[in-house]
Amino acid sequence: MHQPAVPHLAATDPEIADLVEAEARRQHEKIRLIPSENYVSTAVLEATGTVLTNKYSEGYADRRYYEGQQLIDPIETLAVDRAKALFGVDHANVQPYSGSPANLAIYLAFLDPGDTVMGMALPMGGHLTHGWSVSATGKWFRSVQYGVRKDTGRVDLDEVRELALRERPKLIFCGGTAIPRTIDFPAFAEIAAEVGAVLAADIAHIAGLIAGGAHPSPVGHAQVISTTTHKTLRGPRGAMLMSDAEHAKALDKAVFPGLQGGPHNHTTAAIAVALREAAEPSFRDYAHAVVANANALAQALLERGFDLVSGGTDNHLILVDLTSKGIAGKPAAKALDRAGIELNYNTVPFDPRKPFDPSGIRLGTPAITTRGLGVEQMPVLAEWIDGAVRAAGEGDEAAIERIAAEVAELLAGYPMPGWA
Ligand SMILES: *Cc1c(COP(=O)(O)O)cnc(C)c1O
Repeated sequence: MHQPAVPHLAATDPEIADLVEAEARRQHEKIRLIPSENYVSTAVLEATGTVLTNKYSEGYADRRYYEGQQLIDPIETLAVDRAKALFGVDHANVQPYSGSPANLAIYLAFLDPGDTVMGMALPMGGHLTHGWSVSATGKWFRSVQYGVRKDTGRVDLDEVRELALRERPKLIFCGGTAIPRTIDFPAFAEIAAEVGAVLAADIAHIAGLIAGGAHPSPVGHAQVISTTTHKTLRGPRGAMLMSDAEHAKALDKAVFPGLQGGPHNHTTAAIAVALREAAEPSFRDYAHAVVANANALAQALLERGFDLVSGGTDNHLILVDLTSKGIAGKPAAKALDRAGIELNYNTVPFDPRKPFDPSGIRLGTPAITTRGLGVEQMPVLAEWIDGAVRAAGEGDEAAIERIAAEVAELLAGYPMPGWA
C-alpha cells in the first residue's frame, strides 16, 4: 500500500488512486537504475502532501506580495538556511520550479538574448538547457558546445579553453546528464575567469554526492550553482540556485519576478526536510555507498564485456555503449524493463544512431543504494543485465521472465519508502 495511505483519494477518485497504488507497487518491484531518479523518504512525501499547496507567496521572506505569510516565511527561510549550511554557499534560492527553469533564470540574470553561452552538447552528456539547439536556450542565445574526446570519453579542458578563447561566451555551464566522471570545477573556473564569463555549475545529478562529500564541490569555483533537488539529493521535484554574494541579487530577481510567480510552498517544505536529512551523518554514508555501488557495478559489467564510456565511473552513473553487444539501446532498455530492471536508453558520444534510437543505455545507483543494496549485489545485477541484453538479442522472452522473477525475489527483502 502507498505510504502514507491515500484513503481520501481513493474515496474521491478511485481511478487516480488505483493508478497511484499501482505505480507505488511498480516502483517497489523494479530495480530502479535510472541515475536521475531516487526514492524520497516518507517524511519528504508527507511534506509534499500538505496544505502548504494552498498558499500564494510571491516574493521572498519578509518581502511578499500577499498577506498570511507568518508560517511560510519561516519554512522558506529554513530551507534557504539549510541549503546554505549544507553546501557552504553565501546565497540560496529554493523557489525554482525545477532544474530547467532554474537554468533559464541564470540566462535571464546574466545574459541578453543573442549573447553567447557555452555548454556541453546534449549528445555528449550535457543538458538541453545548456544551449542545445532545440531548447529555448539554444534558440534565443548564441550557443557554442563542447564535448568529450573520442579516445578517452572525457572532457578535454584544453579544447574547452580554446573554444572559450575563440568564442568568448558570457556564460559557461559545466555539468550534465550523462557524465560518468568527476567534474574539474577549478579548471572550468580558470577558463571562465580567463574569458570573463560567469561559470555555472549544474550539479543536478551529483548534488547529493557533493553534499555527502563523495564528489568535489564547485563552491569557491563556480559563481552560480544550479541543482535539482530530486536526484541524488533525494528531495522532492524542485530546484535550487546557489551563488556567491555578488551574484545573489541578480539570480533572485530572475527567478521572481523575472521568470516565475508564486513558489510551490509544499515543495519548499519538502526541500527543507530533504536538506535536513542530507545533513545527517548517514547521508554521507549513503553518498559514498552510491559511488561504491556504481564502481562495483561498472567493474562487473566490464568483466562481462560491456563497453563503458570513459572506461568506468567516478560517480553514480554508468554509460554503456552496446554496439559491441550487437543491440541498440532502446530494445535493450525495453527488454531490461520487462526483466524488472528500469533504466533508460541514451546516446553515447559520437553516436552514429539517432537520439530516439541510440546506441547506449544509462544507469546509476542512487535509487538502489537508498533501497539498501550493496556492493555484494552488484555482480548479480550485472549478470541479470547481461542475461536480459542477450535474451533481447535472441528474442528469448522466457529468459527475461526468469530474470524478472529473480529481481522481484531479491527486492522483496529491501523495503522502499512510499510503499508498505
Ligand atoms: C535533470 C537535469 C536538469 C533539469 O531538471 P528538470 O527538473 O528535469 O527540469 C538540468 N540540468 C541537469 C544537468 C540535469 O541533470
